[in-house]
Amino acid sequence: MSAQLLSGKEVAREFRKQVRVRVQELVDKGMPRPSLTVVQVGNDAASTVYVRSKVRACEKLGLGSTMHKLEESVPRGELIDLIHTLNADASVSGILVQLPLPPHLNATEIINEVDSARDVDCLHPANVGRLWLGDSHVTPCTPQGIIEILQHYGIGLKGKRAVIIGRSNIVGKPLAALMLARHATVTLCHSRTLDLPGVAREADVLVAAVGKPEMVTADYVRDGAVVIDVGVNRQTGADGEEVLVGDVDFAAVEEKASAITPVPGGVGPMTIAMLMVNTLRCYEYQHGLSA
Ligand code: NDP
Repeated sequence: MSAQLLSGKEVAREFRKQVRVRVQELVDKGMPRPSLTVVQVGNDAASTVYVRSKVRACEKLGLGSTMHKLEESVPRGELIDLIHTLNADASVSGILVQLPLPPHLNATEIINEVDSARDVDCLHPANVGRLWLGDSHVTPCTPQGIIEILQHYGIGLKGKRAVIIGRSNIVGKPLAALMLARHATVTLCHSRTLDLPGVAREADVLVAAVGKPEMVTADYVRDGAVVIDVGVNRQTGADGEEVLVGDVDFAAVEEKASAITPVPGGVGPMTIAMLMVNTLRCYEYQHGLSA
């Protein structure tokens, strides 16, 4: 069997179009333009690439964007002062503090300072709690992107066995909440899970969010399972060029799975698209326009 390719790139295009249309509609009505503010601390190379692509995505959709780049050594108080200033700025719809932060800054403590109404990543403790209660104005970008891919391709979760490998705060844990809300039976695995391939083989829907290139081999996959590869691992190709590799051994797994996301072009484009959606959601929430 050769698996159906689940193209996040294609699904993301639809969401970007919806955001572009909605932004234009708001501007045409004379409303202020929704805007995302990104705060980056230090010069982490991967973060710089991500931040640039987020700002570029905003520009393409007509969303405003502002970037604050702070020195690696910025004192905690100075960063918090900046966040408080942004919280009080009516032109700022969404605030994103790019992670990871340097070791002297506690990410949970810093994100707790962001106005929860402007928390486009859904990482503020109040929003994490609301997410589990099913009552949050935003949902986390990567997990929501996965849900949207499944929905787009008509893959239901009700009654299905979902196994997620990885329990991070940005992917595994919130994805478990979203899948549970859609009536999947969810198993969350991590580095201490015993017989991981055996547990993974129980999955109707298997998600790999580990950060280990091609760790999920065909041995982890039941015949006909749906496989979602969140991993983004940068490797050097044969010609010395940078190649992106997922957490799934794509060539082997696509022979067993019924459907699979590629890397690149799978979950990645959805994460950015959902960030744009969340910027709009935060704006609508602040302006009393939420559905
Ligand atoms: P983290 O490093 O925060 O978490 C990794 C998780 O994998 C942890 O829960 C860890 O377990 C678990 N793990 C590590 N090794 C093993 C192992 N051998 N067996 C089982 N579980 C293991 O990563 P993230 O969640 O931030 O990211 C995961 C991957 O997804 C990365 O490649 C990242 O680049 C990518 N990513 C992609 C995004 C996209 O848009 N496509 C967005 C976000 C992330 P434990 O908790 O026990 O340590």
